[in-house]
Amino acid sequence: MSELYATIQTPTVKYEQPLGLFINNEFVKGSSGKTFETINPTNEKVITSVYEANEKDVDIAVEAARKAFEGEWSRVTPTERGRLLVKLADLFERDYETLVAIEVLDNGKPLMLAKGDVTHSIGCLRYYGGWADKVHGQTIDTNVDTLTYTRHEPIGVCGQIIPWNFPLQMWAWKIAPAVATGNTVVLKTAEQTPLSALYAAKLIVEAGFPPGVINIISGFGRVAGAAISSHMDIDKVAFTGSTAVGRTVMQAAAKSNLKKVTLELGGKSPNIVFDDADIDNAISWANFGIFYNHGQCCCAGSRILVQEGIYDKFVARMKERAGQNKVGDPFHDETFQGPQVSQLQFDRIMGYIEEGKAEGATVAIGGDRHGSEGFFIQPTVFTDVTQDMKIAQEEIFGPVVTIQKFKDEAEAIRIGNGTSYGLAAGIHTKSINTAIRVSNALRAGTVWVNNYNMLSYQVPFGGFKESGIGRELGSYALENYTQIKAVHIRTADALF
Ligand code: NAD
Repeated sequence: MSELYATIQTPTVKYEQPLGLFINNEFVKGSSGKTFETINPTNEKVITSVYEANEKDVDIAVEAARKAFEGEWSRVTPTERGRLLVKLADLFERDYETLVAIEVLDNGKPLMLAKGDVTHSIGCLRYYGGWADKVHGQTIDTNVDTLTYTRHEPIGVCGQIIPWNFPLQMWAWKIAPAVATGNTVVLKTAEQTPLSALYAAKLIVEAGFPPGVINIISGFGRVAGAAISSHMDIDKVAFTGSTAVGRTVMQAAAKSNLKKVTLELGGKSPNIVFDDADIDNAISWANFGIFYNHGQCCCAGSRILVQEGIYDKFVARMKERAGQNKVGDPFHDETFQGPQVSQLQFDRIMGYIEEGKAEGATVAIGGDRHGSEGFFIQPTVFTDVTQDMKIAQEEIFGPVVTIQKFKDEAEAIRIGNGTSYGLAAGIHTKSINTAIRVSNALRAGTVWVNNYNMLSYQVPFGGFKESGIGRELGSYALENYTQIKAVHIRTADALF
């Protein structure tokens, strides 16, 4: 094997890991030949090093994507685009165990969740494969002497910047609708988790995609990410990550070529439990709502709001439930919570926990690191939380939840809507009327009633307020990747 591949042994599989930048269907070392390390968050040891993209590499990848967009890819039929995506899904399925193992190794998510991620990614690729030849315009009857129709055309070269919390799922959410609709892609992975995306890149060649259609680069936000957002020959940028960086991406897009922008940003989502809720069900979903993926979810139910009649009972049960979550080695079958993704995220979260204590909130359970090696944090529940506290307003992105008490529906809605975010919300009640009234009143892109964090690639996902712009998934995502052309053809000879 050359330096462009490494043999990696995980506890479950041994495999060949590509390390290069994936441009024009080839792995290359990049113009500087520089590499950076990716760390195993479970033991803080280096897994391997991958090649790092700089501005010049972004230029090269964009050139490849442009050439494909204007050349070979433009002649590939929609049906064939769909077949390629379905073939890619089949290859993901064949290499399922390897993709699962890479996610566990590089991200630290436990096996049980990584399996769900890979299954979801396969479904997402197939779903958009199915859409590829079903996207079309309208004929519009304007008058007898004119034929008028619309075409839903691809936007062009799409820059895509993804985070580390769902490396492969974000890869599929971004790439599948873009190529289904005939675009080409330059995708930058998060510097913390480059490995599964590069392995999946290998499968792109095997599936038969022409060179340049999908390009995958590893690199840092301030260099490669910034080069994508400000590139003059990228027609659209899709970003998932923090609200702060989302703002930067939008500014760069505005200052460069006004490329189209979609943003999937942060959240501080309320999970509201009414007095009449089924308490066992509410506890189970409140626990899953925050501790799933170690709280590293943009839609995490990080603020639990409980009505006063069941508040004491709920807090006691929540403490008990959070204490039962199995934290530890993500390669163990029963582990529910692995390490946070990086030292930086670990430090940020521990900083918020200290802040919560200093602000006067009570640690009902947790509040410290778990063990002495790896970026593990105890599932943490804060009570005696007030709306103005930093821990009730800012996205912590870790296994930390606040519980607040409310009197009535109006107060629940006021607190629920009381942050700058609007990504998701949960409601737990047996009353259909309460569920409908409250879900209508919450300013959030997704509302879960008597469940939480249940996502499907068939259903749109995205944010109100500062949680983002545009919707991913479902048929709605196709709109992010197409632009509409109206054609008016005069069919009569008369002059104007
Ligand atoms: P981030 O926003 O810095 O990183 C996300 C992606 O953006 C990465 O690929 C990164 O390389 C890239 N990026 C960073 N700076 C950039 C720039 N100037 N221009 C273009 N791209 C850039 O997130 P982070 O530092 O990894 O995490 C910080 C916080 O962001 C977390 O604590 C969490 O609150 C939030 N976050 C949210 C999501 C989400 O799914 N909404 C995902 C990850 C992180």
